Amino acid sequence: MSETGEHLPASIPPSAGVAGAVAADPPDFGPESYAPAPESTDLVQVADEYGLFIGGEMVPAQSDRMAPTVNPATGETLATFSVGGPTDVDRAVLAAREAYESHWRDMSGSVRARYLYRIARLLAERSREFAVLETLDGGKPIKESRDVDIPLAAAHFFHHAGWADKLDYAFAGASAGPLGVVGQVIPWNFPLLMAAWKLAPALAAGNTVVLKPAETTPLTALLLTEVLQDADLPPGVVNIVTGDGATGAATVAHPGIDKVAFTGSTAVGKEIQRTLAGTGRRLTLELGGKAANIIFEDAALDQVTEGIVGGIYFNQGQVCCAGSRLLVQESVADVVITKLRRRMDTLLVGDPLDKNTDIGAINSAAQLHRISELVSSGVEQGAELYQPSCALPERGWFFPPTLFCDVSPSHRIAREEIFGPVLSVLAFRTATEAVEKANNTPYGLSAGIWTEKGSRILQMAERMQAGVVWANTFNRFDPASPFGGYRESGFGREGGRQGLLGYLELQGIGR
Ligand code: NAD
Ligand code: MG
Repeated sequence: MSETGEHLPASIPPSAGVAGAVAADPPDFGPESYAPAPESTDLVQVADEYGLFIGGEMVPAQSDRMAPTVNPATGETLATFSVGGPTDVDRAVLAAREAYESHWRDMSGSVRARYLYRIARLLAERSREFAVLETLDGGKPIKESRDVDIPLAAAHFFHHAGWADKLDYAFAGASAGPLGVVGQVIPWNFPLLMAAWKLAPALAAGNTVVLKPAETTPLTALLLTEVLQDADLPPGVVNIVTGDGATGAATVAHPGIDKVAFTGSTAVGKEIQRTLAGTGRRLTLELGGKAANIIFEDAALDQVTEGIVGGIYFNQGQVCCAGSRLLVQESVADVVITKLRRRMDTLLVGDPLDKNTDIGAINSAAQLHRISELVSSGVEQGAELYQPSCALPERGWFFPPTLFCDVSPSHRIAREEIFGPVLSVLAFRTATEAVEKANNTPYGLSAGIWTEKGSRILQMAERMQAGVVWANTFNRFDPASPFGGYRESGFGREGGRQGLLGYLELQGIGR
């Protein structure tokens, strides 16, 4: 069953208001009433072609393979980048090893901290440029790259700069040392932010790095190389090898890598786990999710509506911790759905560079295909679809905000990670039923709880099998707060003291 657009008629006659009121055009706050406010791209210089960042400089790849990265909002190619092969990975690992052994591991923490502070400051100074480039390459709304991705990336470097000279105090009674050369493979949904999540703690702890960005979004990592150079980071401490899945596979399998940190799909995470099994090399995995966002009847329902929208439509739902399953208490289900539909009708879908845009482009044609396929399965399996009747841009890859009611826990849309702007609603009657439904997933990354009762928050949070639990908010991130999953969502934490542990060998006490 499909139902679209419950807008009021586009033109309401001026006299349709209170009888006898002075005839005047009613204010129109609908999505079409906003004039375009596109962010300028003047600040951003994109080269035609990029090499690899190895040993502190951009060098041509030996692999001779190049690939395009496109702007998903237009389908236009922005640049071509090198697809690193095994020889390139090898060179990068050697450069990282050399930097590690010759100085970085032995450098005092306070000196390492200075580099991290410099990187943070330079990122903050160039934040507008990074934000525009992130939006061009990945399709996320400029207001998100400007207000979330880039500031948080800088914050991660600031935060970890503070830890670099305090590692021994972070873990009382132990002496903390680095692991060696770290291989890091990151996804396309938060390209610069994931680079920061990985680089900042690794460097603070005294490791050197080979980083492999995602193939659809390599450009902000490549721009970061300028920041690393301007910060005078010694050559080889960070090496960036762009490429595809094979480049990632070569990085994680390289025998010169002491630790692998991966963020991406559960399928690839499992493959990496198999590759590393028995090698004694350390591994942290941050994988998919199917989070429950749980609404109790006593919650403040207007705030809840904003929380649901932010939970699932942020970054087009391409978020591993997205609140993609809405669990709503039966007594308020109707009112929550009504409010949510009204709010969905006001969401602006379109040009990611427009400052008004709420929902930008889907990152790739492949991702759009995956989302469409799962949404079709929802309709076929009998869930009730709602999409506002918004016009989608004619070119590029876009998907409207989508809501499914009458979802059964066995439906694919209730079980599989969609990684798109698609919300599935399930009802519950009691807290026990909410806990059972929330935990009925192979994943365990995040959860949200909305209630006015503090005791219920604590009780529910304890029972959630999820690494991150938000109360009366959703999708909040802070460098001091550990993030990570259970079960098929992976293991290990990023952020805070717990995140540092993933990059340290502790001597003196057990871990
Ligand atoms: P992916 O796991 O294939 O890609 C993530 C990163 O891993 C990329 O840099 C990629 O080049 C690299 N990679 C791919 N194959 C590899 C291999 N065998 N060894 C090492 N590295 C490898 O994810 P995807 O195909 O871009 O997206 C597929 C699905 O994964 C999405 O629909 C979504 O469900 C999920 N996903 C989750 C996250 C997350 O943040 N947890 C991020 C991206 C995608
Ligand atoms: Mg791109």
